[in-house]
Amino acid sequence: MLYGEDDYLSLSGIQHFMFCRRQWALIHIEQQWEDNLRTVEGLLMHKNAHDSLKTETRGDIIITRGMPVFSKELGVYGVCDVVEFHRSDDGISLFGRDGKYLPCPIEYKKGRPKEDATDLMQLAAQALCLEEMLCCTVKSAYLYYGETRHRVETEITSEIRDNVRSVFEEMHQYYDRRYTPKVKPAKRCKACSLKDICLPVLCKNKRADSFITQMLKENSDEKAT
Ligand code: SF4
Repeated sequence: MLYGEDDYLSLSGIQHFMFCRRQWALIHIEQQWEDNLRTVEGLLMHKNAHDSLKTETRGDIIITRGMPVFSKELGVYGVCDVVEFHRSDDGISLFGRDGKYLPCPIEYKKGRPKEDATDLMQLAAQALCLEEMLCCTVKSAYLYYGETRHRVETEITSEIRDNVRSVFEEMHQYYDRRYTPKVKPAKRCKACSLKDICLPVLCKNKRADSFITQMLKENSDEKAT
């Protein structure tokens, strides 16, 4: 099945979804958003990656920043921080360039390598988009970490590709139903940028929007009396 543009979801939402499905739903279905230090630092880092020169050439490598990508198969759109095109006989032709090139996405992260697979899943999703858009194979991809100032080469295995496909399928199912999962308080809530909206302890069985509507109503009732 191929998705239409109206059904595309944000590619970077896969990080939110894997961190907490409720957090993803609050941001992407209910359009709630709250910045915290982590999200602001992350945004600044991505802005720096995107704001530099759009394209430059270093030897056999063409470097492109802020490249928009999409996939009809996954039903997602997004932006790659950096895509390097490496000269390769197995590659594809690029308009206005001699030779053939293979794309290599590089995703910037502000912290250090994580134990879970969220960063890798986001990078793999970008690789799948590039493969579909450019009819090629992504053979190498990197995660760059701001804290270690080091990039880590990452293999996009068939297992990771399958995981990415099934996570996006699940995201589409949630989105089609406009389903926000109930709160499940956990350790991760402490680091969650939406904890003041989600109210994991107070709001255990409610959608955030209905909780806020109720609070506003109580507020206006108080003013009216
Ligand atoms: S506070 Fe906890 S349950 Fe609520 S969105 Fe964040 S991580 Fe999920």
